[in-house]
Formats: sequence, structure tokens, C-alpha cells
Amino acid sequence: MPAVKEQPSPGKVLLTGGTGFIASHVLDCLLDNGFTVVVTARSKDKGQRIVEGVDLEVRDNVSFVIVGDIAQDGAFDSAVQSDPPFDFVVHTASPYQLHFDDPFRDCLDPAIKGTTGILKSIKAFAPSVKRVVITSSSAAVLNVAPDHLPVYDETNWCNVTWEQATDPMHTYRASKKFAEKAAWDFISNEKPNFDLATINNTYTFGPLPRSLTTLDNLNTSNHRIRDMVLGRMRDGIAPTAPVFTFVDVRDVALAHVRALTVAEAGGNRFYMVGEFFSNAKISEIIRKEFPQLESKFPPVEEVKDDFPEDHWKFDSSKARKMLGVQYTSLEKSVRDTVASMLEREDLMKGQ
Ligand code: NDP
Repeated sequence: MPAVKEQPSPGKVLLTGGTGFIASHVLDCLLDNGFTVVVTARSKDKGQRIVEGVDLEVRDNVSFVIVGDIAQDGAFDSAVQSDPPFDFVVHTASPYQLHFDDPFRDCLDPAIKGTTGILKSIKAFAPSVKRVVITSSSAAVLNVAPDHLPVYDETNWCNVTWEQATDPMHTYRASKKFAEKAAWDFISNEKPNFDLATINNTYTFGPLPRSLTTLDNLNTSNHRIRDMVLGRMRDGIAPTAPVFTFVDVRDVALAHVRALTVAEAGGNRFYMVGEFFSNAKISEIIRKEFPQLESKFPPVEEVKDDFPEDHWKFDSSKARKMLGVQYTSLEKSVRDTVASMLEREDLMKGQ
């Protein structure tokens, strides 16, 4: 039998925010595609958990480096330096929560200074990096009611102002808009050796990260599915608003990986939406797929679908055309998310 020839690695990637929901899927996708990956984590414990969660066959291709608070000057200076050097950087680390004690310390600074900080560090210390992909958000694209446009795509920027940024209603959206703007400005003003692509994904559902230690720390966008599974909506399904669009995390991960390597992706934003959803639709899917959870829900006749008839439209076809992403259906995404929760007996215990 001829010897199996090992494929050369397509490159070495620094992936920030390795404990995160989206990063955990980006990591899997990078490893599946043969990349070597160094993840950043805030502590040794977190870094070790990420590495230990990776399949044994590819575990040698992943390691971690500790980066504390990304808002600090020079936070990434040593992380971007590596031997052999990095080819790519994927920056996902940014606070995604909706309640903050201090809007600057807890959200705006890590988002914006974290983004400009990593770009500065790469320019100064990692000249081998060819491309950076940043996880931005649909929050940097969409307005809020009553200012909605009829149709959104990646040509749109949300109209939130810097003056609104400390209003808790707007802090997260502002953090994503101003972080992404700062990244594009950095590219045009500093003209570094690398180019940039951003992934502007909407509300993202999907299987839990393996390194998760408690359902209390579950990423924000999976909360509604968790709450239904735990019976926290037994007395009534919570309203869906303000977001009625979703995308599956595995599609988002694939887009990050393809955005690194598809030559023409450089210089582009990718607005990613799979489908519309509502909490009523999610509850219907869970009841159908997991009849053992029926007692966690209110009577069917009491569940009203609040999806608005006059909802704005989206065009998320660029990621399909340029990056080859096939969007996963809501049904599959919800089914796989719930299955991943039920599989984790350690997390479900005592809930
Ligand atoms: P998670 O909360 O699961 O992950 C956030 C990551 O950022 C964690 O690794 C966290 O580290 C890290 N982080 C946050 N603040 C800091 C800080 N000050 N210093 C160092 N690290 C920090 O969120 P997601 O995976 O959902 O989100 C990841 C990215 O995707 C974010 O940029 C978010 O804005 C974006 N996004 C998410 C969407 C979604 O629906 N999930 C939709 C659109 C965009 P630690 O674990 O140590 O706290």
C-alpha cells in the first residue's frame, strides 16, 4: 500500500477568546481543516480546559497563551509572537452580554481597544500575518425600531452614535459598531501587511462549547433555548423581540475559516443570517424533537407566535456566494443545540 502523504498545514492561526461559544466552533473548524492553532485565554485553567476539550487526534495542533484583559495597552504584544510565526489571526474576544456595571470598563473598552490593540500588536510584532478575520456582529449593521431599513446587507452600518453608547440599550451595539469601524480605519490609515475581513453574524445558536463548566456561563444567544429546556418558560414563552433572525454557529465558524483563505474575501464584510425565528417556533421544534421535555412548556394553545408580519428583510447571500456557506435550518440548529445540552449530564444535574 502506498504511504499516506501528510498534507502540509494551511497555516498557523492565533484565535482570541478561546473559551467563547463562537471561538470553540472556529477552533474545531480550523483543526478539521488542518490548521495549527494557538488560542488565547484569560487564565491557565481556561487554556488547559480548551486544549483538553479537543479530540486526541488533533490535540497536538492546539496550544494556548494567556492574555488577560484585552483592553490593556499591549495586551497582545507577546501573544502575536510565535515560532514558527503566525499566518493568520481570528479575533473573536469581546464582551457579549446585555447588562454592564460600567459601560466603558465592561464593554466598550475591551471591544474597541481590544480590536485596535490586536491590530497594532500584529503590525508591530507579527509581520508574517497575511489576514485578520474579526467577529463583528449584525449589531454593527442593523438599526433598531423605529429606524429599520426595508432590507439589510453588508453595505449597511447601524446608526448608533457615540453619545448613545453609554445608554445600556445601545452599549453592546455601539461596542460592535465602533470596534469594527476602528478596525477598517486602522487598515486604511496604517496600511499594514495584512488585510481584513469581518463576519457580521446575527443571533447565533448552536451546540455548547466543550469547555463550558456551568449553564450559568452559557453564551447569551443560547439563553432562550437553555431556558426552555430547563422549564424556565413553563409559565409562558418569553417575547422574542428585538431579534428575529438567527444563524447557526457552525456556519459562522466555517465563514471565519473560509474568510482566512478565500483570496477575494479580504476587504469584505459578511452579513450572516440563516433564517427568521421566533420563540414560539423554537418551542414547537423542541416539543416535536424532544417529547420528553413536554412538561417544560405551557399548553400549546397558550403559545402565540409573535413574529411580526411587517418584519424587515435581509440579504445574506454574499457569504454563500463568496465563502461557500450553506445556511443550516432553524430546525437542525435548535435540535443540535438541545441535544448538546442534554448530553452534558454534568451541566444539567441540579437544574
Ligand atoms: P462568549 O461570551 O461565549 O465569548 C466571549 C469571549 O470573549 C470569551 O472568550 C471571553 O473570555 C472573551 N472576553 C470578553 N471580554 C474580555 C476581556 N475584557 N478580556 C479578555 N477576554 C474577554 O460570546 P460569543 O462566543 O457569543 O461571542 C464571541 C464574539 O462574537 C463577540 O465578539 C460577539 O460580539 C460576537 N457575536 C456573537 C453573537 C452571538 O449571537 N453569540 C452574534 C454576533 C456577534 P472569558 O471566557 O474569559 O470571559
